[in-house]
Amino acid sequence: MSSYLKSTPNAEGYFGEYGGAMLPPVLEPHFKEIAEAYAKISNSAEYIRDLRYVRKHFQGRPTPVSYLRNLSDMSGGAQIYAKREDLNHTGAHKLNHCMAEALLAKHMGKTKLMAETGAGQHGVALATAAAYFGMECEIHMGEIDIAKEAPNVTRMKLLGAEVVPVGFGGRSLKEAVDSAFQSYVPQADTALFAIGSVVGPHPFPMMVRDFQHIVGIEAREQFLEMTGNLPDIVAACVGGGSNAMGIFAGFIEDEDVALYGVEPLGTSSKLGDHAATITYGEDGDIHGFRTMLLKDENGEPAPVHTVASGLDYPGVGPEHAHLYRTGKANYVAADDKEALNAFYALSRHEGIIPALESAHAVAFAMREAKNHPGKSILINLSGRGDKDIDYVTETYGFGDES
Ligand SMILES: *Cc1c(COP(=O)(O)O)cnc(C)c1O
Repeated sequence: MSSYLKSTPNAEGYFGEYGGAMLPPVLEPHFKEIAEAYAKISNSAEYIRDLRYVRKHFQGRPTPVSYLRNLSDMSGGAQIYAKREDLNHTGAHKLNHCMAEALLAKHMGKTKLMAETGAGQHGVALATAAAYFGMECEIHMGEIDIAKEAPNVTRMKLLGAEVVPVGFGGRSLKEAVDSAFQSYVPQADTALFAIGSVVGPHPFPMMVRDFQHIVGIEAREQFLEMTGNLPDIVAACVGGGSNAMGIFAGFIEDEDVALYGVEPLGTSSKLGDHAATITYGEDGDIHGFRTMLLKDENGEPAPVHTVASGLDYPGVGPEHAHLYRTGKANYVAADDKEALNAFYALSRHEGIIPALESAHAVAFAMREAKNHPGKSILINLSGRGDKDIDYVTETYGFGDES
């Protein structure tokens, strides 16, 4: 591992001033247990061998890097490439950390995986990991989201997970987090709470980054092999920030590679209309860690909007806040319209239907290519868009771009 990754975060889980673990006392010993188990296991030859096996023979890794010739020609300027996490089993990068979290739980002697889910993507990935490893799975989901995301609820049930409907408050993601944590406390001896991005209390932001690092390791090697050079720009969409941290980690020591996180600008830059946390947020605490945050007038996490439900989070992984403050990475935003335009363009001109989340990274590449003639842009295509086709075509049609 590179020296940055080895030394960041520190032993308390701080990336500079961000991160840490602010937990209710009942949960402190359990997160400590997870941190200790991970520290031990991440150096265990058996764990590393098991994880390699799963990635190769179950997930379908390595995923390829594709040169997007038509999109590059259309955009004019830089050459655009994509790391194809949409080809990962279950269709997104989330399985990279879910399989590793499940394997960690297994090594710790746990019998159950637990989590909350918003749109259901994390729930499906975790239920998949639980099925593979023969573990129980309990997923908490707001009633509103259950009604909106019926296919993912069906998938989780088929995979053997128990989906617990959450019917209080706003009946959405925030309440699902509260409900899942409540249910976790009395089961913490036998269950692992598997967080779905590089967020939450230490050690999750570090662990999930390390589990996603494989994306960057593969991409760097593949890109060098394809082109003989490193990319000039590496970009990824940022919700919590796990797919971005995964690909960033592979290039973090390469001074000449510029890293770009692309946040969702939703419908406008007005608070409540977007989820561009680093672009418009300030320092604050959420869900047990310090980071940058979109706050309402009372200092509470603000309501957010984006067409991509997987990017719908008022906070961001603490490492992204740190990379932003230290200037190691840049953060920009793309709005719903640009993301939709990119969704149609990648589908029609490259034969790849991207997830609406990933379409934000595509939009950035299309926009930025003009400014970098002769250079190369590598994006992380975090997931495929099958989950989004009904919503997109029913709401926006088939795109009028010609
Ligand atoms: C969940 C999801 C994201 C957002 O999660 P990050 O932790 O920000 O990577 C991005 N793309 C896809 C396809 C997703 O399913």
